[in-house]
Amino acid sequence: MLEVCNIAFSYGAKEVLKDVTFAAKPGEIVCIVGNNGVGKTTLLKILATITAPDSGVIRAEGQDIFKYPLKYRRNLGYLQESPALYEDMTVKSYLKYRAMLKGEPEKRIRRRIQEALNTCKIQEVMHQTIGKLSFGLKKRVALADAILLRPRTILLDDVFAGLDRTMRFDAKEIIKSVSAFSSVVLTGHEMTDLAKLATRFLVLSDGRISASISTESLNEIEIVSRIDNALKGVVS
Ligand code: ADP
Repeated sequence: MLEVCNIAFSYGAKEVLKDVTFAAKPGEIVCIVGNNGVGKTTLLKILATITAPDSGVIRAEGQDIFKYPLKYRRNLGYLQESPALYEDMTVKSYLKYRAMLKGEPEKRIRRRIQEALNTCKIQEVMHQTIGKLSFGLKKRVALADAILLRPRTILLDDVFAGLDRTMRFDAKEIIKSVSAFSSVVLTGHEMTDLAKLATRFLVLSDGRISASISTESLNEIEIVSRIDNALKGVVS
């Protein structure tokens, strides 16, 4: 369970997040939407403990993530907006390196890597150098890294950016398959795909969560329309 309480953050004099509060339970796929520049990436960077908030508290499994960042990061999968992969490593050696970095016991690493390679459909390129892969395959590798150790918290920034239809479909299946025991928080722009994936949308506006839209019992058209209205400030 990820609990985000009263988060505020400014870049110098520019106030971006004023008072962000929400929670994401295991099994939930929470999608943060909002206009460009509203602070979605900033919020995910804070949830990834890359940037510290000016005030507020974030707890994972009841523990303040900034008090115990190393413990939290071992149980965190994070797909950055522009994933930084080690281009001269092979896919398999990169995933092994990442698993070791997070302190995964050696005996489990091989199994975890096989699972992630299968889930992300990148077994065939596991011995290839990352730098030589297409953009879509690199994104699959970044996704494999994010889900590698079955983390309790998964953060995916602009998850479908640059992916074609097939890869978006696969990405949705991958995220659904790993979400049962994880709290997933993601951002993106591809509303139709996101409507098929998210269990809840949170609209970020003027530094706050201005609307929460549960997707249960709504069809995709209704979901997209409610989000549009929330972005325009219309109460529905
Ligand atoms: P979003 O992901 O919703 O598009 P961002 O979190 O990237 O928004 O950015 C929120 C606001 O903060 C934007 O106005 C952006 O220009 C600004 N911003 C982002 N990163 C920095 C930074 N490193 N320094 C100063 N301002 C920044």
